[in-house]
Amino acid sequence: MIGGSSLRALARLSCYPAPLFLLLLLTSCDMEAPPTEAEILERAAAVHEAALTIDTHVDILGAWGTPELNPCTETHLRVDIPKMVAGGVDAIFPAVYVGQGPRTPEGHAAAKETALNRFAAIHRVAEELCPEKVDIAYRADDLERIVAEGKRVYVIGMENGYSIGRDLSLVERYYDLGARYIGLTHSGHNEIADSSTPREGPAEEWGGLSPFGKEVVREMNRLGMMVDISHVSDNAVWDILDVTEAPIIASHSGARAVADVARNLNDDLLVGLKENGGVIQIVALGSFVKVDPPERREAIQALRQELGFPDRAALREMTEEEREAHMARMEELRPTYEARMVEIDAQWPPADVSDFVDHIDHVKNLIGVDHVGIGSDFDGGGGIPGFNDASEAMNVTVELVRRGYTDEEIKQIWGGNLLRVWREVEQVAAELQEAG
Ligand SMILES: [Zn+2]
Repeated sequence: MIGGSSLRALARLSCYPAPLFLLLLLTSCDMEAPPTEAEILERAAAVHEAALTIDTHVDILGAWGTPELNPCTETHLRVDIPKMVAGGVDAIFPAVYVGQGPRTPEGHAAAKETALNRFAAIHRVAEELCPEKVDIAYRADDLERIVAEGKRVYVIGMENGYSIGRDLSLVERYYDLGARYIGLTHSGHNEIADSSTPREGPAEEWGGLSPFGKEVVREMNRLGMMVDISHVSDNAVWDILDVTEAPIIASHSGARAVADVARNLNDDLLVGLKENGGVIQIVALGSFVKVDPPERREAIQALRQELGFPDRAALREMTEEEREAHMARMEELRPTYEARMVEIDAQWPPADVSDFVDHIDHVKNLIGVDHVGIGSDFDGGGGIPGFNDASEAMNVTVELVRRGYTDEEIKQIWGGNLLRVWREVEQVAAELQEAG
């Protein structure tokens, strides 16, 4: 478009000899001025406000949902209601996570108890601690209605089918408590499927889904729960794609072509996900976003050893109490740790928002923008500079605007795609229940 000042400039140019005038005119037409930083921020703010923003994976550990750690108020957590409000995040899926223990009847019973306690915590927050600020959505339509009422939304996700044990009836029990997706595994194989990160023993136990796992997927289809493939092995994803009648999700995973780790999905699996109609929600956990150079890994390892932090394997072996004692100690040492991490980050920069959006770009280019969303894994390891907690969510939108994503695409990524999948899952369940 030619504005008033450009017209004045053209009028001035008309006194130049014709060839020079034409040359200048062509040059000015070829150069469309790139948007200014202020224009990018303004457009990002508008689309972020207009979008339904959904983060599909947030962990709730320890005392979350009690007066001691009350997410209705400002906390040290990466996600609480004030941070959601500040960052324009409408909805999160708090995860009913259960760390894997022994695969025995006692182990499964204990896992069920842990899961039920986490469900109770989520209901306590939404129904007792601050029902005026947040409500639980049980259907996709609820989510939109609650946002229109000016409240934040919780949709309950589950992480680790270990809490199902071998009891198929628990799938419906968890559904009745509000669970709308279940991640079938965590680290370590379970009765349902193989994990992308085995703990001990063989790399694969079932070669994918177990026979019981196939029943679990069918039951989830019947009830209207999204099957979550984050943490499951590649072969288990193929089996799930074979068995499921509804679209599936990866609630918090990246693209392996961008960061080559087992927790991310390779291109073949992404193509399978596209054919299924599902969606991958990109995770903001640094080591899944960008593979660290060995020097950085070694420096962090040395620092952790110096401060007496246990390694991953030791963490997994801990009981719930030991883990909480460890978290408390980490909290005390946090200032020291963070000061030293600044030095490490300066030498080997960590994953940032641009690296995060590289995963979105990759998925969009490979299988289309209809199949990608966002699942931070905040309070479970997620958080990168620029997208370090819920209050910084708009920085992702800014980066998407900067890279030329349209408003419509940004709305799809922030929530539209996930809602589409959820509605299709509800539709398939209605048809299966009608037929059955
Ligand atoms: Zn996880």
